[in-house]
Amino acid sequence: MQSNIPWHLENYIDGHLIGPLSGAFLENYNPATGESSGLIPNSNEKDIDLAVAVAGKAFMSWSQTSGEERFRILNAIAEGIEKHQDLLAEAETNDNGKPLWLSKRVDMNRAAANFRFFATAAMQFASESHAMENGINYTLRQPIGVVGCISPWNLPLYLFTWKIAPALAAGNCVVAKPSEVTPVTAYLLSKICMEAGLPAGVLNIVHGSGPQCGEAIVKHPGIKAISFTGSTRAGAQIASVAAPMFKKLSLELGGKNPNIIFADCDWEKMMKTTVQSSFSNQGQICLCGSRILIEASVYERFKKEFVERVRTLIVGDPLLPESKQGAIVSRAHFDKVMGCIERAVQEGGTILTGGKSVHLTGRCANGYFIEPTVIEGLGPQCQTNMEEIFGPVVTLQPFSNISHALELAHATQYGLSATVWTSNLQTATVVSNKIQAGIVWINCWLKRDLRTAFGGVNNSGVGREGGWEAMRFFTEPKNVCIEYE
Ligand code: NAD
Repeated sequence: MQSNIPWHLENYIDGHLIGPLSGAFLENYNPATGESSGLIPNSNEKDIDLAVAVAGKAFMSWSQTSGEERFRILNAIAEGIEKHQDLLAEAETNDNGKPLWLSKRVDMNRAAANFRFFATAAMQFASESHAMENGINYTLRQPIGVVGCISPWNLPLYLFTWKIAPALAAGNCVVAKPSEVTPVTAYLLSKICMEAGLPAGVLNIVHGSGPQCGEAIVKHPGIKAISFTGSTRAGAQIASVAAPMFKKLSLELGGKNPNIIFADCDWEKMMKTTVQSSFSNQGQICLCGSRILIEASVYERFKKEFVERVRTLIVGDPLLPESKQGAIVSRAHFDKVMGCIERAVQEGGTILTGGKSVHLTGRCANGYFIEPTVIEGLGPQCQTNMEEIFGPVVTLQPFSNISHALELAHATQYGLSATVWTSNLQTATVVSNKIQAGIVWINCWLKRDLRTAFGGVNNSGVGREGGWEAMRFFTEPKNVCIEYE
């Protein structure tokens, strides 16, 4: 496989790369340069009709394929991702703006791990039985049929594969759409699947916009389940279409995560990790802690040291190893984040560091870069502290005790993740028991075991991904009851 800039992407349908049936394309941009990097199919319901038809045909045999065979093919895809990881990482960075070292270290490793992990799940998945006095119930977990997977731009191949791999491992056929903002690695994955010998029609990757191509997937009567990761707004729209059609839904949505710091924590580890949990991937990770809550007795010390460290983060060309912060993913998102910073000031916030766009020279002169920004002086009820910004912007708020920390933490509609820093076991236990979140990290952040349940509560979504949760989502349980003689 070769790097082929400018890209002219095609859909992957029935084992072939083909253009959109309408012949219409969308422009794709490199956010670090602001320049076009190629064209992507602007697919519509006709392309989805075709993809669903071939997936339905492929389901007849894929659903009957043994766990060993599914393991072999999914594992070969994992190997293909590893073999082409340098090309994939560069494509991801050019599409998304994240530093190249991050694409390599995190995104590509995880994309391969997703396929390898669920390859083994295909062989190990099991179901329950319930013995009765004079009989037994056993549960068949059968693949659903054709399922839809829709993913966002922030961790493009990482999250795309996180959905596709369990869907395929469980015996389903898939119609998948990556974000139109970052489609290139999904296109390269099509080629890897062809190299790995995935049978035609089992996975179909269709490119296009959310309202046109994404909605056609959600609406299609032949698609029985939707696994979606993205904004709360789009999640609500998808639920309104899919729920009356009685589709199975997994919605992984936005977050406004609290990072709760008690005075008795391991200070150095907390400081180092808090810089990462605030600004990794330019703050564009749904799990970033965007509201930092600090015990009042150490608030001033935290503020001083944190701001000093944030000022050392180099914003630069994502291809350079010294760049700690790359570009914001698109012009539209750059404008949104800058608007949020302006609103924070109007709401009475004080910018401690950052707050401005960064103008680089050379190839990145027209790119979308923003200084990592720290804001204080805002209460829990302002929009800045209640709404997701999804950029390199965090706020600081002091708290007096555990119940005050929880009150601040719960001042949003979201409930994805929370991070707690303390050396007191009781404090850690009380906060993790009481906090409304799907994921809690104690004295760490983004430490992931792929077997664990992943997802949020409230406006952060419905359902869980990961391990058996994902295998159960992508199968339909059927109870069989036998009475003994
Ligand atoms: P988005 O909702 O705009 O788009 C996500 C995907 O949905 C894209 O592929 C898009 O084309 C598609 N889409 C948009 N509208 C659609 C519709 N009406 N019907 C069908 N598909 C539609 O989100 P984004 O801007 O790409 O991503 C950022 C958001 O994703 C943030 O809110 C972030 O918190 C969230 N996110 C959540 C998780 C999680 O695991 N909870 C992980 C990563 C990102």
